[in-house]
Amino acid sequence: MKKKRYIHFSLRIRFTLLVIAEMTLVAFISEMITALLGKCFEISVQIPAVVWAVLVSVVLGSAVTTFLGKKIFSPIQKLGEAMDRVADGDFEVRLDDKCGFKEIREIYGNFNLMIRELQSTEILQTDFVSNVSHEFKTPINAIEGYATLLQDEGRLLTDEQSQYVEKILFNTKRLSKLVGNILLLSKVDNQMIQTKQSAFRIDEQIRQSIVSMESEWTKKDIDFVVDLEIVEYTGNENLMIHVWDNLLGNAIKFSPQNGVIGIKLIKRAGRIIYMIADDGPGIPENMQKHVFDRFYQSDSSHKEEGNGLGLALVKQIVGLAGGEVDVENVPGGGCQFTVTLFEKTR
Ligand code: ADP
Repeated sequence: MKKKRYIHFSLRIRFTLLVIAEMTLVAFISEMITALLGKCFEISVQIPAVVWAVLVSVVLGSAVTTFLGKKIFSPIQKLGEAMDRVADGDFEVRLDDKCGFKEIREIYGNFNLMIRELQSTEILQTDFVSNVSHEFKTPINAIEGYATLLQDEGRLLTDEQSQYVEKILFNTKRLSKLVGNILLLSKVDNQMIQTKQSAFRIDEQIRQSIVSMESEWTKKDIDFVVDLEIVEYTGNENLMIHVWDNLLGNAIKFSPQNGVIGIKLIKRAGRIIYMIADDGPGIPENMQKHVFDRFYQSDSSHKEEGNGLGLALVKQIVGLAGGEVDVENVPGGGCQFTVTLFEKTR
């Protein structure tokens, strides 16, 4: 196939040539009009050259601007649209670098190169997290598996040995959760833009989260008051589930026996608001601003059951999505966490 060849004129040269061409045309057309009027109508017009120049310039200038506007600004507009898509986490976008302007071709080429690099960094990071996670989790799962086997053979063990096995199981679960949270945090930490965005139902995610923790809330006989509006949202579905899981996990953990957890999801004027309240001990006011810090635990009675990273992760994920998370105590005991997300306008 024959390759299309481009004449390498820079934008500056094109502009200069256009101005020269326009000036020549102005002089030529004004001469023609004067000659035509004199010849056909025997009118001798004495319009000053400058007036001609202005008149013809206006007509010609408008035509040239329309033409140039289309030619020059449409590639810039395309570039802007592509950048918007990258900012939304779409690294598949590419620009066609077969454009007549050398500068635009170069910008498009560099843009494509930059996005390819960004894409490979993202893949590298995801691979690293999943590899490390796999390397950590395999031995932990093996320990957990053997400890479970030992526990099943409980009648062969002394009471003391049974206690040790229980402790091994408890701590392997903690370690597994800690590794998962650290890796996830390190992944979210390095992200400025949200990748892998898709449309999904937040109310469905919240329902799934409640169902997945059934064994924990049934142990405490917790009642739920759930009021979820249907809310569709575009964001990172896999990350967002950690927000609902962590907040619900805490509400269950800090709820008393026979406690009540209230969950509400509403959408008002482009805002998606999620509220989860429990009737646990609440959080002392002076500690509320710290609960989103890494490894911070305000309530020492549940220290063993967590690692102080859950809320840090919630804040990071919600922040990445451009939202906010807050906590306040509710009258009568307990606290309420509120997550606010904003609907995408683009
Ligand atoms: P952890 O794994 O320790 O729960 P988090 O980051 O999820 O870590 O929470 C940090 C701290 O915030 C907790 O240790 C606890 O002191 C406090 N906290 C979080 N949720 C609640 C809640 N629903 N009620 C009371 N205290 C809470």
